[in-house]
Order: sequence, then C-alpha cells, then structure tokens
Amino acid sequence: AQEIGHDLGAALVTARALERERNLVRELQQLDDYRTQLIATLSHELRTPLTVISGNLEMLGELDLEETARRYHQAMTRGTHRMGKVVDDLLLLARVSDPQHPLVPVPVDVGAVTADVVALVESTARAKGLRLRVDLGPGGLVVPGDANEIDQVVGNLTSNAVKYTQAGGTVAVSAVRRDDTVVVEVADDGLGISEEDQVGLFRAFFRTTNPDALREPGTGLGLAIVATIVERHRGSVRVSSELGRGTTFTVTLPTGG
Ligand code: ADP
Repeated sequence: AQEIGHDLGAALVTARALERERNLVRELQQLDDYRTQLIATLSHELRTPLTVISGNLEMLGELDLEETARRYHQAMTRGTHRMGKVVDDLLLLARVSDPQHPLVPVPVDVGAVTADVVALVESTARAKGLRLRVDLGPGGLVVPGDANEIDQVVGNLTSNAVKYTQAGGTVAVSAVRRDDTVVVEVADDGLGISEEDQVGLFRAFFRTTNPDALREPGTGLGLAIVATIVERHRGSVRVSSELGRGTTFTVTLPTGG
C-alpha cells in the first residue's frame, strides 16, 4: 500500500508539472497573439495620418519656399519617408503573420522575381562601388506562392547584402533548381555577422551589435519578414557567416512535387 501511495504521489506531481507547463505555453501563445495584434493595430493607425502628412509635405514642396523653410521641408520629408518605411514593414510583417490571411499560392517564377530584384538594386550597388553578379539556373524555377512576398524575400536579402558590404566588394545572387526545390542564394563578402548575433537574427527588431553595421539605418524587421514569408511557403532559410569575411543567406522553396 505504501508503494502504491508513493507511485500515486509521484504521478500527481508529474500531472501538476504538466498542467503548469501547458498553462505556460498557453500564456506565451496569448502573449504572442497580443503582440501580433498590437503591431497590426498600431501600424494601421499610423499609416493613415502618415499618408496625410506625406501628401501635404509634397504639396508644400511645390510652393516657392524660402531657403530656411526649404531646409525644414527637406528634413521633414526625410523623416516622414523613414517613418513610412518602418510602418510599411510593420504592416507587411503583421499581414504575413496573420493566420486569418493564409497564403493563396499561384505559380511564381523565382528566376523572373530574382532578375527584377537585381535590376532594381543595380544602380545603388554600382554607386557604392560593388560588383553585382547574378546567376539564374535553366528553366523550372517555378514554385507555388505569392510573387510579391517572394519579391520581398529576395529583395530584403539582396538590399541587405548591398547595404552591409563595403566598396570593392561583391554581391552574388543566384536561383537554381535542386531536386524538388528552388534554392535562392544571396552571398556577399561584406561585414559578416558574429556567431552570437546569428542566434537572434530572424527575430523582429533584432539589430546587430556590430558598430559598422549599426551605422546603416534600419529597423531590424527585414529578416523577420523574410523568415515569416519563407515559413508560410513551407520553405527554409539559413545563414552562414563569418565576421569580417561575409555572409551567405540560402532560401529553399519547395516546388510542390
Ligand atoms: P535592418 O537591416 O533593417 O537592420 P534586418 O532584419 O534586415 O534589419 O537585418 C537585421 C540585422 O542583421 C542588421 O541590422 C544587420 O546587422 C544584420 N545583417 C543582415 N544582413 C546582413 C548582411 N548581408 N551582412 C551583414 N549583416 C547583415
């Protein structure tokens, strides 16, 4: 009887521990939902007044302003533009994280998306003194997905590579077919990311501890957007990097058989 009592006691302790763990998981999930909801509400509420400010600034810019007013106007335009970028990134992150808006996949040509992205960053890369290489594998680079979202993935990774690579460096973007996947690789020989920083890299608002990288403006939302979009396409993204040597991001998207 004593042994049975002992077993029962142990089972009770285990059951209570399990219950506590389940509650904790539920609370964390609620907290995460709350955070997602908060971001969605805030970004929506900020977008409207921001559009009003931008529109009025634009009209103001067409007036014949005197020198000082012109400088104030330029500073406000820059600030508003930067705020708009943050709000748009927040809105996008909220949208792709929203389980109420699941992905509606259509065939997307990843090769064409990649070529578009590279064409867009070309002038920035050249102005910065970077070499930009692109390598698109032969046909069959189609995956089921959302073209705008895949554009965001390749675009964020490519503009980061350009942003965090010094003059004289090289940014290489490729998209190739590998078995039942399309693999997009964005490689640079720029600043690199330390091992500690790689741990938090895909979290929203994460920014590096590297002072050279912090000199560049940024929100720390780009890679969180990349990871969320890749996840809803049932793909994967990984990073390989060495501080001072460069970084390679590899995105793998399933072709769906
Ligand atoms: P942002 O660039 O707006 O700060 P991201 O989420 O795109 O936000 O990137 C998070 C951080 O990861 C950046 O602050 C930067 O330090 C680091 N990072 C991203 N891409 C690279 C890269 N190609 N080379 C070096 N550091 C990078």
